[in-house]
Amino acid sequence: MTVKLYRQDAYQKEFASTVLETQENSVRLEATAFYPSAGGQAFDTGFLNGIKVLEVKEKDGAIWHRLETPLEVGTAVSGQIDWARRFDHMQQHTGEHLLGQAFFRLSRYVIAVNMEHSVCTLDLGEETTWETAMQAESDVNAAIWAALPIRSYEVPDSEIAQIPLRRTPKVSGMIRVVQIGEYDYSACGGTHTNSSSEVGMLKIFKLERIKGGATRVYFNCGSRLLADYRFKHDFMAGLGLRFSSALEVVPARVDSALEDLNKARLEVANLKTQLAARIAASFLKGVVVYQLEDVTLLPDLAKACTMRDQLVAILGATDGSRAFLAVTCGAGVKQQANELLKIGLPFIEGKGGGKPDLAQGSGSRVAGLEAALEAIRSGMA
Ligand SMILES: [Zn+2]
Repeated sequence: MTVKLYRQDAYQKEFASTVLETQENSVRLEATAFYPSAGGQAFDTGFLNGIKVLEVKEKDGAIWHRLETPLEVGTAVSGQIDWARRFDHMQQHTGEHLLGQAFFRLSRYVIAVNMEHSVCTLDLGEETTWETAMQAESDVNAAIWAALPIRSYEVPDSEIAQIPLRRTPKVSGMIRVVQIGEYDYSACGGTHTNSSSEVGMLKIFKLERIKGGATRVYFNCGSRLLADYRFKHDFMAGLGLRFSSALEVVPARVDSALEDLNKARLEVANLKTQLAARIAASFLKGVVVYQLEDVTLLPDLAKACTMRDQLVAILGATDGSRAFLAVTCGAGVKQQANELLKIGLPFIEGKGGGKPDLAQGSGSRVAGLEAALEAIRSGMA
């Protein structure tokens, strides 16, 4: 068993101990302030004798520290935990207790928690509306601002029934209780702040229906919210500047810009169809070879050309990285567009196909486009 210094004092950032056992780059110490991944809280990182601690795991009561380089048995070590990371975990974890209690008061019961990712989650066994979640969120923040003292103590399992725990503990023997004022009592072995006020704030981001009628609640606390607020504030201020508007009217400005964009897109599509029809109308009967500057016009132009009797149109275009070919054979033409296209495709290393009146293809060899058009024209005989 490793002595768990973080259980006695979650604020201990430095400690001294001895290496008792090693396994490759991992060491077991007599005592440690490094928290291992457990109960939904992620492990601590930091240094042992200046060597990076990459991961911390608990196995059968022993805590193993995986290091960047090995240490020998018997080595005296001085350890430092990455305090910014740990305090962030303490803020999320304490917030999770508060949120669990707030939902408990609204008859929603926690079935699982996870605080190992950038956004924390808490799963409730019941369906929950956004309105209920906001009620819980307000309740939690009131508890945070009430600066409730937080303490932990051990109770034998025979006496645990006297403690108003909201979840039945999964462990037996001596049970560690974490008490937040008179607000919440939980059985927990994690690290927590000394006062609810240190959580700063809790914000729920979204709710998600998960299997079995359960609800996953996404939330964050403390410094993560400041980072999130900074990002969103700058983002919103930037949007306001871009639209030269107060933030409240930005949504309306975005809607109207999207409407304008859709209108413009429709207009462009109509103009392209008209332009394609005009180009097709300008072709004389017989064989026409034509290279378009705008590849997006090619489908409309090919379609318009198929309507022209006695016309074979051999069309080419490129978007710079690919070559495009289209061949059309109008009524009264004895050749077949799909057969003619086959002549040109090898020059652009392309693939494609179609019907006797319209065939299209594309290839990666842009430099071969002109030769492809010429080969199709020559192959007309
Ligand atoms: Zn806890």
